[in-house]
Amino acid sequence: QMGGASPCCWGPSPLSPSQQGSGVGDGVLSAFRSICGEEGVSLGEAVREQHGKDESVHRCRPPDVVVFPRCVEEVSALAKVCHKHRLPIIPFGTGTGLEGGVGAVKGGVCFSLRNMEQVLDLHPEDFDVTVEPGVTRKALNAYLRDTGLWFPVDPGADASLCGMAATSASGTNAVRYGTMRENVMNLEVVLADGSIVHTAGKGRRPRKTSAGYNLTNLFVGSEGTLGIITKTTLRLYGIPEAMVSAVCSFPSVQAAVDSTVQTLQAGVPIARIEFLDDVMIDACNRFSSLSYPVTPTLFLEFHGSEQSLQEQVKTAEDITQSNGGSDFQWARDTETRNRLWKARHDAWYAALALRPGCKAYSTDVCVPLSRLPQIIVETKEDLIENRLTGPIAGHVGDGNFHCLMVVDPNNPEEMHRVHLFTERLARRALAMDGTCTGEHGVGLGKRALLCEEMGPVGIQVMRSLKDTLDPNNLMNPGKILQREEP
Ligand SMILES: Cc1cc2nc3c(=O)[nH]c(=O)nc-3n(C[C@H](O)[C@H](O)[C@H](O)COP(=O)(O)OP(=O)(O)OC[C@H]3O[C@@H](n4cnc5c(N)ncnc54)[C@H](O)[C@@H]3O)c2cc1C
Repeated sequence: QMGGASPCCWGPSPLSPSQQGSGVGDGVLSAFRSICGEEGVSLGEAVREQHGKDESVHRCRPPDVVVFPRCVEEVSALAKVCHKHRLPIIPFGTGTGLEGGVGAVKGGVCFSLRNMEQVLDLHPEDFDVTVEPGVTRKALNAYLRDTGLWFPVDPGADASLCGMAATSASGTNAVRYGTMRENVMNLEVVLADGSIVHTAGKGRRPRKTSAGYNLTNLFVGSEGTLGIITKTTLRLYGIPEAMVSAVCSFPSVQAAVDSTVQTLQAGVPIARIEFLDDVMIDACNRFSSLSYPVTPTLFLEFHGSEQSLQEQVKTAEDITQSNGGSDFQWARDTETRNRLWKARHDAWYAALALRPGCKAYSTDVCVPLSRLPQIIVETKEDLIENRLTGPIAGHVGDGNFHCLMVVDPNNPEEMHRVHLFTERLARRALAMDGTCTGEHGVGLGKRALLCEEMGPVGIQVMRSLKDTLDPNNLMNPGKILQREEP
C-alpha cells in the first residue's frame, strides 16, 4: 500500500449507489427522514460528490446518502438505524482534510454536521468553551472577539473544531499553545451503536485530571473511526497584550533551522516560527505579491506584554544574526501582520500556482528538533536529484514540515517518482525517531507506514480498541487501519 500520493487515488470515477450496493434501501431512508426531516436527507449526486472528497489528491468516493442531523439525539438515532442495518458511517466536518478521510470507500452514510453550529457554555472566567461540530475555528474566534479570549490552534483552513479534534490538527501556533491534543478537555461522542459517551464525564471541565484512562485523547486523532464527535470542550487563552511578526532571510537551510532550534533552546516563548525554503518563498512572493529575498526564510511571531516582547525579540535577533540571518523585517501593525500570515496560509495555493493544472500533495513528517536540519537538507537534495517540484513549508518549532508536491496526475512516471520520494521521506523521519504524520492524520495513504511506525504489538492494541468500540467496522471503515472484514 502507498505511503503517500498514490497514482490509483487520482481521478473522478465516483461510483453510483447501485454499484456501491451498500444497501441503503427505502425503509432506511424513511427512517432517516422521520429522524431529521425531509431536508435532512440528501441523495442528490452533487451533494454526495461534495461529501465524498476533501482537499487531498484522493479520488472522490461519494457516500450513498448524506444526512444532516441537528442535534446529538438525531445523530444517535441515525447511528442506531445504521447499526441495525450494518451501514458504514462517515463523519464530515468541513472537508478540508488532506488524507482522504471523508471518502466513502465502502459506501454508506455521510453524517454532515454543519447544521450543529452552536457555541455552548462559554466560561470566560475558567478559560473554556464547549462547541457543536459545525462551529469552525474562525466562527469561534469571531464569537469570542469581545471577551478578550481566543482559541489559538490554527491549521490555516477554516476547519470545524470537531474535525480538528478528529485529526489532531495543529498548525502555526502549536509551538506556543500546543495542538488539539493539549487543548481538548472533553468530548461528547456518539459511538457506532448510537450510545453517547462523554470522554471526561458529562459536563466536566477540570484543567487537569488523573481519573482513569484518557478517553479524550483516544478520540482525538481517531479520524472518525471510533465515533462521531458531537461536542468538544476547549481551552481558551487571553488575547496577548501585544503581538509582533517578523521575517528573516538566511544564507542556508541549515542556518535557518539552527536559528529555530537555538531560539527554542534559549527558552524564548515564541508563538510562531515557520520555515519556507527558497522555492516556497519564491512561490509566495509571486502568489501574494510580496518581495522577500529568494533564500531560506523564517516567519516569526512573538506574543506577550510590551516588555517581554522586547526581551524575546532581542534574544531571537541575536541568535539569527549569529547564524548569518538578515535583519528582521517587521510587521507591527495588524494589517501587515495579517498580510504576512495570509501569505503563509496561502502557501498551498502558491505552490499549486507554480504548475497550473497540476495537483498538490503534502507530506507531513515530524522529527525531534535536533534532527530537523539534517532531514530538511537531505530532503532538498532528494527533491533536486529526482527532479521534483516540492517547495518546503514547515512548523519548524515543532520539528514538523511539509513538502508541497506539485505533480501532473496524467504523468505516471512522475507520479511514481513522487510516490517513491514520499516513502523515502517518511522512512527517513522514522529512522530519526519521528513520525510519518505530525498533524494531517493517517487517512488512506499512510496506513502501511503506520504499521512500520507502531510495530506489530502497537497495531494490535489499536485493532483491539477499534474492535471493542466498533465490532462491526461501521465507523469510517478503511481509514487508519488496514483490516480484514469481520
Ligand atoms: C490549505 C490547507 C492548509 C492546511 N493546513 C493545515 C495545518 O497547518 N495543520 C493541520 O493540522 N491541518 C492542516 N490542514 C488540514 C485540515 O484543515 C485539518 O485536517 C482539519 O482538522 C480538518 O477538519 P475538517 O472539519 O475539514 O475535517 P474533514 O475534512 O471534514 O474530516 C477529516 C477527518 O475527520 C473526520 N471527522 C470530521 N468531523 C468529525 C466529527 N465531528 N467526528 C468524528 N470524526 C470527524 C472525518 O471523518 C475525516 O476522517 C490544511 C488544509 C488545507 C486545505
